[in-house]
Amino acid sequence: MKKEQYDKAQEKLYSDDNVEMNIYKCPNCGGETIFDVAQQKVLCQYCGSRFDINADTTVTEKNIDELLNEAKVWDNVEVYSCETCGARQIISNQDVAHECSFCGTKHIIKTNELPGLKPQGVVPFKMPVENVANLAKNWVKKKFFAPRNFKKSAMPENIHGVYNPVFTFDCETKTSYSGRLGERINTNKSSYIRYFYINGNIDVKYDDFLVQASSNITTTTLNKLSPFSTNDAPVYNEDYLRGFKASTYNKDGKACWKEGQDLMRGDIRKRILQRYRYDTIDFLDAKTAFLKQKYKYVLVPVYVGHHTYRGKLYNFYVNGENGKVTGKTPLSIFKVSLVTILTILLVAGFVYLTCFLD
Ligand SMILES: [Zn+2]
Ligand SMILES: [Zn+2]
Repeated sequence: MKKEQYDKAQEKLYSDDNVEMNIYKCPNCGGETIFDVAQQKVLCQYCGSRFDINADTTVTEKNIDELLNEAKVWDNVEVYSCETCGARQIISNQDVAHECSFCGTKHIIKTNELPGLKPQGVVPFKMPVENVANLAKNWVKKKFFAPRNFKKSAMPENIHGVYNPVFTFDCETKTSYSGRLGERINTNKSSYIRYFYINGNIDVKYDDFLVQASSNITTTTLNKLSPFSTNDAPVYNEDYLRGFKASTYNKDGKACWKEGQDLMRGDIRKRILQRYRYDTIDFLDAKTAFLKQKYKYVLVPVYVGHHTYRGKLYNFYVNGENGKVTGKTPLSIFKVSLVTILTILLVAGFVYLTCFLD
C-alpha cells in the first residue's frame, strides 16, 4: 500500500501530520498487518482494521529488449536461505522468518544476497489457507499407488503460502520446415516403411507462456499447477505479500527466455507432426522466427506443505488461486509390483496370441 493511501485511510482518524508511519504497521494501532486472502484486503491482526489495496491497474508486458536493462530492485525485503534444503526465500524485513516453507526446519538464516529484479505483477492468493489441508488430504486419497496406511494417516503439515517467480512470454512465431517421415505399410506378405518428404509453414501465437524462474519448485510441478491468471495480474504491490514469503529466482530473464524459446520450438514441432500420419521420423528441420516478443516477470501464489511417512518428507503444492494440488507420495511396493506383473502377463498373453494363433 502506498503511503498516500494510508494517509487517506486515516484522514478521519488522525489530525496529526507528524505521525511516523511504517507501511507495514497498522495506522490505527501499530499492529502487524497481513494480506487477508478471503477479503483481498490488508488486515490488522490486532485491531481488525481492513484497508483496501490499490489494484486498479493490471500489469503490462514489456519488450524483450528491456529484459536485460531492467534494474529495479525490491525494497524492504531480505533473502533467507534454508540450511537443510537450500531453499531461498524473500521475506519482508518486517516479518519474522520462523521456519522454512519447503522442509519445515527452523534452520533458516539471513543472507546478504540481493533479491534481484522486482516483479512487475503479482497474482494474489485467492484460496484461503484454511482450505488447504482438506485439499491436500483429498488429493492423497485419490492417489492409487500410495500405500493404504499413508492414505489413512496422511496429515498435512507446515502449510505456507509462497509467492513463486515466473516469467511469462508473448510472441508470434513463423516457422518453415522440411523433413522426411515414414509410414509402416503392412500387406499380407510383407511389412515395410514407406518414406515421404514433407515441407511447409506454420504460424503459432503464444500468450503468457509460463517459465519457472526458481528452483525451489520445479517447472514440472508448476505446469501441473497451472493455469494462473497472469493475464489479469495487478501491478506488483507489497501489500499482497504481507504475511507471505516469496521465492527468489535463480534463472535470470535471459535464461528463462532461452528456455521458453526451446519449449516453444518443441511445441511447434509437435504441431507440425500432428499434420501427418507417420510411424517414424527420418529427420525434421524447422526454422522458427520469433516476432513481437514481450515478457512479464510476475509472482504466482503457491501453498507448500508436506506429509511425513516413515520418517520421510513428501512435499505437496497447491495452486493458491484455484486449489489444484500436485506433489509426491510414497509408493506402495505391493501395488506397483502387482500392476507390473499384470502388465507383463497381459503383454505376454498378447504376444502369445499374435505369434501362435496367426
Ligand atoms: Zn490495528
Ligand atoms: Zn528448507
